[in-house]
Parts: sequence; C-alpha cells; structure tokens
Amino acid sequence: MKGISILGSTGSIGRNTLRVVEHLGDLRVVAMAAGRNMSLFADQIEKFKPDLVSCDDSECARELRSELAGRGVAEPRIELNRDGLIAVATHPEAEIVVSATVGSVGFVPTLRAIEAGKQIALANKETLVMAGELMTAAAAKSGARLLPVDSEHNAIHQCLRGERLDEVRRLILTASGGPFRTKTKEEIESATREQALDHPNWDMGEKITIDSATLMNKGLEVIEAKWLFGVGPERIKVVVHPQSVVHSMVEMVDGSIIAQMGVTDMKHPIQYALTYPDRKKNCLQPLDITGLANLSFEEPDLDRFPCLGLAYDAIRAGGTMPAVLNAANEVAVRAFLDGRIKLNRIAAINRDVMSEHSPAEASTLQAVLDADEWARARAIMRIGVGAAAN
Ligand code: NDP
Repeated sequence: MKGISILGSTGSIGRNTLRVVEHLGDLRVVAMAAGRNMSLFADQIEKFKPDLVSCDDSECARELRSELAGRGVAEPRIELNRDGLIAVATHPEAEIVVSATVGSVGFVPTLRAIEAGKQIALANKETLVMAGELMTAAAAKSGARLLPVDSEHNAIHQCLRGERLDEVRRLILTASGGPFRTKTKEEIESATREQALDHPNWDMGEKITIDSATLMNKGLEVIEAKWLFGVGPERIKVVVHPQSVVHSMVEMVDGSIIAQMGVTDMKHPIQYALTYPDRKKNCLQPLDITGLANLSFEEPDLDRFPCLGLAYDAIRAGGTMPAVLNAANEVAVRAFLDGRIKLNRIAAINRDVMSEHSPAEASTLQAVLDADEWARARAIMRIGVGAAAN
C-alpha cells in the first residue's frame, strides 16, 4: 500500500480525494490536515485511521479529541497550524501528497513536500501562483513530480503525454464563464453572495467559486500553467466554453488541436494524479458523447471580467507580482464573502494593490512571504477605504 497525505481533507477536493482513495483500495492515508471542521474530520479519522493529523489551533484540537472520544476512536498524533500542515506534508511514509488547502496557507507545507521529493497532486493553485519559480526549482532539485489536479491543467497534462513541448504552439485553457457569463456590468456589480456562489457546472469551495465568478480563477490558472508547463503567457489562450466538457486543449505547430474531454467531476483528475503514470478504472459514469448537443467556444470579455487581464499583467511584470495579486485577491474575496465589498471591487482592489507594487525577485521564500504580507496589508487598507464609501 502506498502512503498518501492529504492537506485539506475536509474540503471539496479533500472529500473527493478520500472517495477516490476508497475506490482505488491500494492507498493508505498516513496523515491528514483540516482547518476547523472537526466533526467531519473525526468521521474521516474514524474511517481512514491516519497516524498523524493536524488542525487549525488548540481549540480545534480539544473539539477533535472530544469528537473522537465520543465515537470511541483511538487518537492519532495531533499537530497544530502551519507546523502541523508541514508535518502532514512531509510524513515519512507518504509517497503522495495531495495539496488541497485553499489559499496561501498551503504554500510552505507544499514547498516542504516538494523538497522532500514527494509526488504532489496539486489542487491548491495559489501556492504555484505565489511562488512558481521557487516551487518548480525545488521540484527539479528533489525530483518531486508535480501533477495538476485542476481539471484544465490535468487535461493539458494528458494532451501532452508523448508530445514534444517545442512542437506545441499554445495551450488553450477552457473556462466555464461562471454564473455571470451573460450578465451586464451593472448586474455583476449588484450580484449577491448567493448569486456569485451559484456556479453553473462545478460544486467547489467558496473561494474558488468566487474566483470563477470574477474569472480570477482563470487568471490564476494562466499563471499556474506557465509554471507547470514552462510556456510563456503569449502562448496561453483562454476560451470560454460554457458546457465544461472540453477540459482544455493543446494546439500543435501544425495546427492540430488535441483536446481532453470528460465528465465534470473532480474525482476524474484527482484519480489521474494519484495513479499517474498508470490509468485505472474509476468510479464514474463515462461521458456520453452522443448526448452532447452543442459545444461552444467564445472569447473572454476582459472588460466585464478584468481580473483575467490582471493575471496576464502580473506574469508580464514577473517576480513577486503574481504573489501580490494572489494575496490581494484572497483578502478581497474574503471581504466580499463577509459582505464588506461588492463583487466588482475585487478587481479594483487587485489592480490598485498591483499598481503600488514594484516587483522584486521571487526566488527566495522570504521574498515571497514579504510580498504576500505587504499585499495583504495594502488590500486590507483599500477595503477599509472602499467599504466606507460603499
Ligand atoms: P474548500 O474551501 O472546500 O476546502 C479547503 C480545505 O482547506 C478545507 O479542508 C479547510 O479545512 C482547509 N483549510 C482552510 N484554511 C485552513 C487553514 N488555515 N489551515 C488548515 N487547513 C485549512 O476548497 P476546495 O477544496 O474547493 O479547494 C481547495 C484548493 O483546490 C483551492 O486552491 C482551489 O483553488 C483548488 N481547486 C479546487 C477545485 C474544486 O473543484 N473544489 C477545482 C480545482 C482546484 P476546514 O474546512 O476544516 O476549515
């Protein structure tokens, strides 16, 4: 049995990962980390019996102990917070680490897992956006494999199997367009939290669902693709594909386009990343292509969805700019979810914080963490000003 560690086991990707683990039957969960959902975490610990677990703080640990005692479950080793996440990410018996926390909290733990040479099933895209240079350099040094869980990058990874990168003209990332694809600027401005969280095709955690509504998610994915596949932004194209059947494509220099299609279920890319380089039968109904009446592709509208353009600007600026965009966006999304700003202010805050930043090299951990901290402080300040004006 191969050992597997899961960062973010109680989240949408984490729960789907555990379903895949159950289906495959040849992986042993040696360590798991969650944030604050201790009731679900206790259920998972009861079922998968990891040696080591981590949660947010000592209050969560107390709650977890009481949940486990109530179920008569033996306590695993319990660690806390970032050190706990790192312990889970570097558990000596874990060959595979699923990076599925949300936002920058997963950055250092994922980096440590890469340095330890683990096979990384990477969902937590913000880590690569913040520190792509650092993470890919660490992977090259340790030999760690970075396997994308994000369905678009997973699709590209599949399309590139057996292909030469110098024969690729460009990568084509598909975007569903989110809940506001057909809405006007005014409708987007007045969107409620519930409307923004109502994604037409995917059932995901709150942060990525809001990022999908603003197309920031696609922007983060452009940056992620640059680092995963070593392709510059001029060779990464985004197309809106509302049906989410084609998960992404690769256009070759001879004009051939190779596409990967499949059902809209994250268990599919998760299993690919866990079993790579093998493919195994999964637990999903295959895609019925005769039932596909219409597959359409449109240009994204950067005027209504400026966050996508900001991501391209961040890559071109380079260095610490993507980390700054990522941090500002995390703060702004939280403020939107908390009802403190309107949806369209997310892009404005991201743009303003970026415009105040002079990018530095992002080749050290400290440089990335400093940029992240600086951008958070600037975004919080901007939200204060804007919230008062709203
Ligand atoms: P969720 O919000 O559903 O889950 C996040 C997970 O991270 C939970 O287990 C949560 O714990 C944990 N967590 C949050 N904060 C902390 C913290 N401070 N310390 C430790 N753990 C923490 O997110 P998703 O599963 O949707 O997304 C995870 C990542 O995968 C994101 O980066 C997202 O962009 C990416 N992704 C997600 C997809 C999806 O379909 N959901 C698709 C492609 C990429 P708890 O709930 O216990 O507090």
